[in-house]
Amino acid sequence: TQAPVNVTVTGAAGQIGYALLFRIASGQLLGPDTPVKLRLLEIPQAVKAAEGTALELEDCAFPLLAGTDIFDDAKRAFEGTNIALLVGARPRTKGMERADLLEANGGIFKPQGEAINAGAADDVRVLVVGNPANTNALIAQSHAPDVPAERFTAMTRLDHNRAVAQLSKKLNAPVSEIRKLTIWGNHSASQYPDIFHAEVGGRNAAEAVNDEKWLAEEFIPRVAKRGAEIIEARGASSAASAANAAIDHIHTWVNGTAEGDWTSMAVPSDGSYGVPEGLISSFPVVCKGGKYEIVQGLEINEFSRGRIDASVAELTEEREAVKKLGLI
Ligand code: NDP
Repeated sequence: TQAPVNVTVTGAAGQIGYALLFRIASGQLLGPDTPVKLRLLEIPQAVKAAEGTALELEDCAFPLLAGTDIFDDAKRAFEGTNIALLVGARPRTKGMERADLLEANGGIFKPQGEAINAGAADDVRVLVVGNPANTNALIAQSHAPDVPAERFTAMTRLDHNRAVAQLSKKLNAPVSEIRKLTIWGNHSASQYPDIFHAEVGGRNAAEAVNDEKWLAEEFIPRVAKRGAEIIEARGASSAASAANAAIDHIHTWVNGTAEGDWTSMAVPSDGSYGVPEGLISSFPVVCKGGKYEIVQGLEINEFSRGRIDASVAELTEEREAVKKLGLI
């Protein structure tokens, strides 16, 4: 049998962590043939709660779970890690300035980047979920110079899945028939869900919708503000769908996109589509053989151009801000 894959999860005792760990341990992250070893990182105050979750993991008797270790030290948590899911982050609290938020997250993602650089496995893949995810990924990456930059990614798969679901409802088509949808830019309210290249049952989605007002005034804001809608309805954040998207992101990265389809991932820009090089921005990507590639040569219409540029401008500002704070 295969040696277990080491999966590190930070913020393991949080809401998303609780929705994520059982699915990883059951085999949904890497498939039914791959045993996993969990390495949970928490801040000291939350280690006890993580230990409680580990007891529950044990009680599930998952055949694929080769063990669970808990750490409050990043260096040890990332030792030998193959898959790093960076979920724990400093949330924005009321009245907090953006610079304070970025600085607090710099204090988390800089040492984690250093720890990944020092001890992760050669094939490490990193997904940042904790917000501001794109910029947190940039901070971690800039402190891991020995790890190929493209291994650092941030999550826009939840936005992607939300957009697929909304389009499916609008056109009364099953989600399985929707392909080639794209989230561009930042995982924030400025993100741009693009249906101009999407297909529904082989037909162009924008043509099938044929309603620019719905696109601009309903679809785009609905997808971008879905997190707030869930909080309003549930009284708690969208932790289960976020965990589901994290699973999807890694599963697709490792196992590939379906023929004739792509997915959305925030990855270091190579300058494609006018996105400044190095920014971690969401693109359409094809995954194959354990690697991803940004889909090239798509025509960007005027409607899309302005929206992509606006979200990318926000990412550029965030990069400037963390540079100024000495975090990258
Ligand atoms: P959650 O598990 O609900 O969320 C964790 C992070 O994911 C937040 O930054 C959150 O952003 C982000 N996120 C991204 N997408 C979504 C989404 N769709 N819905 C909800 N959140 C999303 O937070 P908790 O407060 O429950 O747990 C965080 C845990 O992290 C705590 O246990 C804390 O102790 C730990 N932590 C660990 C660190 C470490 O390991 N070094 C460092 C810091 C914290 P947003 O805030 O914008 O909702």
